[in-house]
Amino acid sequence: MGRKKSVRVVETPPMMKGYSPFGISCPKREKVVLNIEEYEAVRLIDYMHLKQAEAAEQMNVSRPTLTRIYDKARSKIATAFVEGKEIFMEGGAFEYTSVWYRCKRCHRIFKETQEHKPCNGCKFYGSDELETL
Ligand SMILES: [Zn+2]
Repeated sequence: MGRKKSVRVVETPPMMKGYSPFGISCPKREKVVLNIEEYEAVRLIDYMHLKQAEAAEQMNVSRPTLTRIYDKARSKIATAFVEGKEIFMEGGAFEYTSVWYRCKRCHRIFKETQEHKPCNGCKFYGSDELETL
């Protein structure tokens, strides 16, 4: 693909914007921000069961960089779990392998363009209602 070595690559965005704990009193909403490439590292290693070297190759980063991203992600998720914080999945320095959109009405995510097509989820017709991820 001829990508620059420095560009981190993410294949699939999270289907949700984050997580909230329940069953605890929440006087102030504290959050942990999980970057999208940190989410991707957890998805590839813990969900897809890739080896770290394979995940590094897929994300276009060195093995040590992948390990740093992954360790940070695990630490943030553990903090949220133990301390009852919300997880926001956003930000980071990466490129998606394809263009993704989220329907602002039903929050479903789509790969590639849905222009001139209704949303598969809520059947709403209109590209104004699509947010580019
Ligand atoms: Zn929709």
